[in-house]
Amino acid sequence: MYCIKCGVKLEEGSAYCSQCGTATGVRPAASTQTTSARSRLMRSLYDKKIAGVCGGLAEYLQMDSTLVRLIWLACTICFPPLLLAYIAAWIIVPKEPPRLVSAMPDSFPQAQTQ
Ligand SMILES: [Zn+2]
Repeated sequence: MYCIKCGVKLEEGSAYCSQCGTATGVRPAASTQTTSARSRLMRSLYDKKIAGVCGGLAEYLQMDSTLVRLIWLACTICFPPLLLAYIAAWIIVPKEPPRLVSAMPDSFPQAQTQ
């Protein structure tokens, strides 16, 4: 592939030109397989036990939410002030927006709007 601006030859999958820095429009390989991952840390509305902090953190880190909760619990037992961090996260971290279509399977026929 070649840079659309300066024409220099680029490695396949390069997101930016190494010469002029122009974005090639190609997304880095890591982000193409994680389309459902979110870039911001938010409290989960759907995967929550108390405030959704662990669920949101699990989604952000792409880990199992149960594992995150177990690690969190173990850490909090060993180091109780972490409980304050949870409460702080509860207050500071925003809630995710509602997912209106999350319950629908991928094969579900799309409703026509016209
Ligand atoms: Zn270029």
